[in-house]
Amino acid sequence: MEIMDGKALAAEIRAELKVKIEKMQQKPGLAVVIVGEDPASQIYVRNKIKACAELGIRSYSYELPETASQAELEELLDKLALDSDVNGILLQMPLPKNFDEDSAMAHIPVEKDVDGFTATNLGLLMQHKEKIVACTPLGVMKMLEKYGIDPAGKNAVVLGRSETVGKPMAMLLLNANATVTVCHSRTQNCKEICKKADILIAAVGKPKFVTADMVKDGAVIVDVGINRDENGKLCGDVDFQNVKEKASYITPVPGGVGPMTIAMLMYNTYLTACKE
Ligand code: NAP
Repeated sequence: MEIMDGKALAAEIRAELKVKIEKMQQKPGLAVVIVGEDPASQIYVRNKIKACAELGIRSYSYELPETASQAELEELLDKLALDSDVNGILLQMPLPKNFDEDSAMAHIPVEKDVDGFTATNLGLLMQHKEKIVACTPLGVMKMLEKYGIDPAGKNAVVLGRSETVGKPMAMLLLNANATVTVCHSRTQNCKEICKKADILIAAVGKPKFVTADMVKDGAVIVDVGINRDENGKLCGDVDFQNVKEKASYITPVPGGVGPMTIAMLMYNTYLTACKE
């Protein structure tokens, strides 16, 4: 069994990007917009801004209160869309319940959509004409590539069908010629389906959801989940200690997919600046 070291790979990718960015006359600029005071979102945003600073990416942070209106948010996004100092716009999800996420996303021009969440970027992914791809699934693909795992012809099972992780993940694996099954909360026989997976991606958001009896010997296990266990300790969706005995490759939490997501955000921001 080999542990896929997302932290090390992310550091490698960031170091390569830093060299490329140093050579750019006009450094990339990322605007990060957060609405409300969700503590997890605030930590994610802080980490993203810190990563920008380390790479020489200019970052601009905008915080709107939960009481702001949809129109105020969209006005800000329209302003950033026109701002030539801003190459990428990141709208931290999820938005508070009273906001319409799809309507807000429609105010981010496709060429500034560093998260790959606009309808156009998702459509391009579906057509296998990817431009900017959602950071977490892209990070997973980079990790598989790094460890020489080619999805072509393999049975890949994706647990979860969110717009931000599960769906784009499934599409990337399909584009890479895997045979893909997507499981969700209404799936029957989830355990039997997972047992057939050569590559199993868990993006459910439930600690220890994937247990050893759901995993085939020699399977590749990628754990996207970020949860807290009963002791408040960070953990993924996979029962790591037991599942690792059966896996050929497995990602840890922390230190697996999480750091790759940030590295891919930096990569996408760099891409948006190169397209100018
Ligand atoms: P989400 O929007 O809550 O989606 C969870 C998915 O899991 C849904 O599609 C849901 O099905 C499915 N699900 C729920 N119960 C299930 C069950 N019993 N069997 C099979 N599927 C089930 O979550 P998300 O945004 O995709 O995130 C998933 C996890 O990844 C979370 O822990 C999140 O914190 C983490 N995450 C990590 C990163 C990273 O950088 N590592 C980035 C993003 C997210 P339905 O569609 O039927 O409800």
